[in-house]
Amino acid sequence: MIPVITVDGPSGTGKGTLTALLGERLGWHCLDSGALYRVLGLAADRAGVDLEDAEGLAALAAGLELRFVERRVLLAGEDVSDLIRTEQAGMAASRAAAHGPVRTALLEWQRRMAREPGLVADGRDMGTVVFPQAPLKVFLDASPEVRAERRYKQLKEKGLDASLPDLIVDIRERDQRDRNRAVAPLRPATDAVTLDSTAMSIQEVLDRVLEEVRR
Ligand code: C5P
Repeated sequence: MIPVITVDGPSGTGKGTLTALLGERLGWHCLDSGALYRVLGLAADRAGVDLEDAEGLAALAAGLELRFVERRVLLAGEDVSDLIRTEQAGMAASRAAAHGPVRTALLEWQRRMAREPGLVADGRDMGTVVFPQAPLKVFLDASPEVRAERRYKQLKEKGLDASLPDLIVDIRERDQRDRNRAVAPLRPATDAVTLDSTAMSIQEVLDRVLEEVRR
């Protein structure tokens, strides 16, 4: 079986960075599953599909022409990497992701990303739903304030507009929806290693996870 490491947790905990670093260190593929839901939100906006229309969104999800090429995200050949990184896109993704039929439509696509020599998969339900057999599952958490600050810095670095108080409100709203939805709610798998990165640097988190990999 192809080895998979799952990295789940709320937004802004450093999952994406940890996943990229682990992928580099191990020479494994990476899956940014959040990008799928973000692209779906964008595609829905463009196609005029309402974010409450579960069946319409699922049909759109099933036909998504999506590719990841060198950390860029291509939708039908168009590089949408920057477009999907806004807070608005994150919120649309979270709304689209709350529907069961949407998640089912994206399930096989995600599983197909598990290829030799291995996969590091980042998301909310990687350990609980998509790769429940993964031998190492990490759940990364951090306080909402610290997560909002990290997001703020990331957005500013990219030259994007951001307000810290708005980000804290958005993060809390997104957390609440992700944790309380009926399908695949955000929670650690029973066999996950939970790490609170509030007071940890990304290097400390990486070292801690590599310790688990070596076990
Ligand atoms: O991780 P990211 O912030 O890019 O994810 C955007 C949104 O997509 C999340 O708030 C969550 O609602 C949804 N998502 C999900 N399941 C995943 C990955 C992301 O529901 N595996």
